[in-house]
Amino acid sequence: MFDYKILESELENLRNEGLYINIRTLESPQGAWITVNGKRVLNLCSNNYLGFANDERLKRSAIKAIEEWGVGPGAVRTIAGTMKIHEELERALADFKGAEATIFLQSGFVANQAAIPTLFGDENDAIISDELNHASIIDGVRLSKAKRYVYKHNDMNDLEERLKEARNVQNARRILIVTDGVFSMDGDIAPLPEIVELAERYGAAVMVDDAHGEGVLGRGGRGIVDHFGLHGRVDMEIGTLSKAFGVLGGYIAGNETLIRYLKQKARPFLFSTGLTPADVAACLEAVKILQESDDRVKKLWDNANYFKTEMKKLGFDLGVSQTPITPVMLYDAKVASQFSRELFEEGVFAQSIGYPTVPKGKARIRVMISAVHSKEDLDFALEKFEKIGKKLGVI
Ligand SMILES: *Cc1c(COP(=O)(O)O)cnc(C)c1O
Repeated sequence: MFDYKILESELENLRNEGLYINIRTLESPQGAWITVNGKRVLNLCSNNYLGFANDERLKRSAIKAIEEWGVGPGAVRTIAGTMKIHEELERALADFKGAEATIFLQSGFVANQAAIPTLFGDENDAIISDELNHASIIDGVRLSKAKRYVYKHNDMNDLEERLKEARNVQNARRILIVTDGVFSMDGDIAPLPEIVELAERYGAAVMVDDAHGEGVLGRGGRGIVDHFGLHGRVDMEIGTLSKAFGVLGGYIAGNETLIRYLKQKARPFLFSTGLTPADVAACLEAVKILQESDDRVKKLWDNANYFKTEMKKLGFDLGVSQTPITPVMLYDAKVASQFSRELFEEGVFAQSIGYPTVPKGKARIRVMISAVHSKEDLDFALEKFEKIGKKLGVI
């Protein structure tokens, strides 16, 4: 038998270091206000940017799809599990993103596992990755035999040095530059136009993970490639349907040949069943709503701009955020966790984030603004931040 005592002592260590994750349980649907541990609190933690997670139209589509298609696809996509609605969604996502084609997968996490090792898996390949990239990119890279290079966060000089190494020293067969579009802990945006220029100069491919840009950046939430007008110059966009789209699922958008290739070769597509009709129909509805109107995206930005302006007026340090992701920089992990606890007691749910999710000495409270927040909600949050900020001597 396995020695579970070892695990117990490791868990104890996590507790002693203040790194044990206290998993909060929601007792209500996602929304501006949620019930957590029996308490009604203002929700500043979710990725439900546009309020789709509990949207009536999405719910009705999911219910209708269950009645029409059942609850499960019954097989992996390549055998007998591709239903008409999977293909409809792939077409709708491609149209939305302005890409030739897409392949729909189980999650954004899985989409990175599908894209990276399938196309850049050979030991003669090179993968050049931003040091702050998401864990699912890092794991995707780990599944590849390619030589790995890491460049300093958003540092184009360092990226160019790595490109030179891969091109001139390694003499790589294929080179991939991979980056998050919006970095989820700081809310800053990758300098994609510069990355694309360097890629073109050194003959590298570019992949951007747009998980936090989708539904947020670009016209009507079409994402980072649209934001910078780089259509046709980025090889792969990774998307998730679990954040702004409010449901579940991931996809890769790109050239038609590339997507057909992935449908033949990507292991998560071949060996793991696709999403259920209910998920797929709800995703389709979210895409339709975004095609019809950009009201929600505008509301998201109005809310984010208002909250960030007022927080700065109060004297809070919001780091380098350029998006609705609002890190309230407190630096000290103990101050951050006490701040978060006191906010919760006052009815505001905003989690503190410390090492190892962010570097030591860079602890913060991460506020996620959503289109479902009303001005009264944001004023309520501002009042509580001010009160506790003063009490703890942060402002
Ligand atoms: C959240 C996130 C993912 C994972 O998306 P899921 O659909 O939840 O699996 C992947 N990449 C980035 C950059 C993310 O922020």
